[in-house]
Order: sequence, then C-alpha cells, then structure tokens
Amino acid sequence: MEPQSVYLDYNSTTPIDPDVFEQMRPFFTEHFGNPASRLHSYGWIADKAVQNARKQIATLIGAEAKEIIFTGGATESNNLAIRGVFEAYGYEGAHIISTQTEHKSVLEALEYVEKHGAKVTYIPVNSFGQITAEQIEEAITPDTILVSVIYGNNEFGSLNPIEEIGHITTKREIFFHTDAVQALGRTEIHVKDLNIDLLSMTAHKLYGPKGIGALYVRHIPRRVKLEPLIVGGGQEKGLRAGTLNVPGIVGFGKACEVATSNFHEENFALNELKNLFIKNLLDIPGTVLNGHPTQRLNNNISVQFGGVKNTDLIIALKNVACSTGSACSSDSAKPSHVLQAIGLNPEQIQSTIRFGIGRYTNIEQIDYVCSKIRTYIESVQKPELEFI
Ligand code: PLP
Repeated sequence: MEPQSVYLDYNSTTPIDPDVFEQMRPFFTEHFGNPASRLHSYGWIADKAVQNARKQIATLIGAEAKEIIFTGGATESNNLAIRGVFEAYGYEGAHIISTQTEHKSVLEALEYVEKHGAKVTYIPVNSFGQITAEQIEEAITPDTILVSVIYGNNEFGSLNPIEEIGHITTKREIFFHTDAVQALGRTEIHVKDLNIDLLSMTAHKLYGPKGIGALYVRHIPRRVKLEPLIVGGGQEKGLRAGTLNVPGIVGFGKACEVATSNFHEENFALNELKNLFIKNLLDIPGTVLNGHPTQRLNNNISVQFGGVKNTDLIIALKNVACSTGSACSSDSAKPSHVLQAIGLNPEQIQSTIRFGIGRYTNIEQIDYVCSKIRTYIESVQKPELEFI
C-alpha cells in the first residue's frame, strides 16, 4: 500500500518531538511569566525553566550554561558571531577566513562586514566539499581575527576537520566560529576539546520548535567579546535584547536533552539507515553521491540522477518530501553556490536531489522511495532503449 506521504527533508526542518511539545505546552498557558520579572513567582518559574534549558543545551556540546546566548535561530546566531566579532575586534583591513560552501546566513554576514572594511578569504573546497586545516593555516595573516567554517554541510553533508582547525586557531590566537546547525546532535561535539569559540545552533533541525536558536560564546579559558546586533533591555548579558521566547527555549532545551540521552542509539540507527539508503540509490544506474562517502552527516544523502531533471523526478515522486537544495535557497532560480563550489556542472546540479532522513524514517519508507525512483528512471530511459 502507498504511504500517504514520506518526509525525507530533515535537513530542512524536523517535526517536533512529542515530549518536546509537552514540555513547552505549560509555558504558553499557566507558566506565561516573563523571566525578567524578578518580583513574583510567574517570573521565577519562567527564569528557572530558561536556566534549565541553558544547561540542557550546554550539556549537549560540552559547554557551560552561561556560555549559551539565545537567539531567534541560527541565521541570527551566524550574524551575531561574525558581525559581533568584527564590531568588537575589527578595524579597516581586519581579516576573516571562511569557505565557499557556507550557508547564506554566513556568506551574507561576511558580505556585510566586507562592506564595513573587513577583508574576507573564501577557501575553496575539494570535490567532496571539504577544506583542510592546512588551507586555513596558509590563509592566516597578521590581521586575521576570525575563522568561520561550517561543521557539516546542509546540502551535501560533508564534515569539515573542525578539531584540526581549532588546534590551529588556538595556537594562532584567532577566534574560531562554526555553523553547527546540521551537525548538532548528529556528531559528537565538545566545544572545549575542539577549541571552538563560537558555535551556531537552531532548535528546528533537532526536533525542537522554529524561531529559537543559540550561540555558544566561549568564556573559559578565553572570553570572546561581541557587539550585539539587537540592543534594548539588556537580556542575554546585553548580547541579545528582547523578552525571551520561553516556550521556544524550553523546547530547545528538551530537544537537546533527548538528543543527549539517545545520542549513541539514535545515531547508530541513523547511520545504518543512511548507508542502506545510499547503497540502494547507487544501485540505480547513473546515480552519483555528492559529498564525502564516509565523512558526512548521518542524515544527509545528496545524489545526482544522471540524465534526469530533479524537478521532474520530484514531481514523479509525488508523496515524497525531498529537496533540490537547501530550503533557504531552493525557491531561488540561481544554481546552488555550494554544488557549484564542489565542481558540479549545470546538468549535474539540475539532476541533484537531497534526501534528509531522521528519527521517524524507517526501512519500509526507504525501500518504497528507492523503488519509485527506479521505476521512474527506467520509464524515462526505456523509450531511448527502444529507439536504439
Ligand atoms: N546554517 C545552516 C547550515 C542551515 O542549514 C540553516 C537552516 O537551513 C541555517 C544556518 C539557518 O537556520 P535558521 O533556520 O534557524 O535561521
């Protein structure tokens, strides 16, 4: 029997875990207090819940609770990290190193600081979409103040050598920011061991709500100063003014707690499912995997279907939710900058589909989708064969 719909777009967003939703619910109703209200129990209850969430998030990444600053999502976290460092430490000609395969929220924050006097070096990636720590080291100049490198790519899944980069940035006393949106909860992240100074996160890629994110800002042993993007009431140590989104924060905290407690079991299962999915897809003639075969996120499968237009295939798949690229740019007519950076030509980009698997994906769904793809591809290849 055909399933009603199969959701395979977990890199774009994830459904809320029912336990997360239950945890959030009272903070919309009876516990509606403002955590900044110090004079009554409504405020105390909300504040306690926010502090608990800070700990839950910090635990997942090996940070201290006081190093977590809440934002409206990772777009804001990336902006706060890059613009915040530039405004606190930058000057005309201050240098930032990044890569060609960053998310648009990093690239546009970099464009912003370039307009304000920064110099930015965009490190090219190899055909798997990865950079090396040596490339970073070679790009460092006496003016380098920040290195910003995506942890795991949202379009093709490859992981960057974060530990090696952290080693170099610490040695050279340069701040290190990473956009860890896709890697959070899917790879083991310990910010202290990895020498990360700033790390961007968002709840909605981890079975939490949309519109809530965080930036880890290192305090120990080296404190990062930032200029805020939003000023006003002094919340979040003056780094992000505005009344806190308590239900969102509670949900983000719970999502991280669930991710921490299920980490090994869940990622083992996801990895098995990903390998099976890749194997089944690569068995279909003409398919090619984008990104690194093993050093990749365990929920991302990006594949070229040679000779087939991705939009035609997606229409044929009908009840399968997947994507041609990142959700933030998939409505744009421009080809993906990220797939271009790994050397794909326009036809290869137009034949690429990204499948994102997650907590609620199962083998039956994978088998169903692979067999639908195979049937479609055979149907478009057949007329040609008959012709020959
Ligand atoms: N960075 C990466 C790698 C992403 O995949 C996304 C979301 O698509 C973002 C940043 C932006 O996150 P948010 O939707 O929370 O603004």
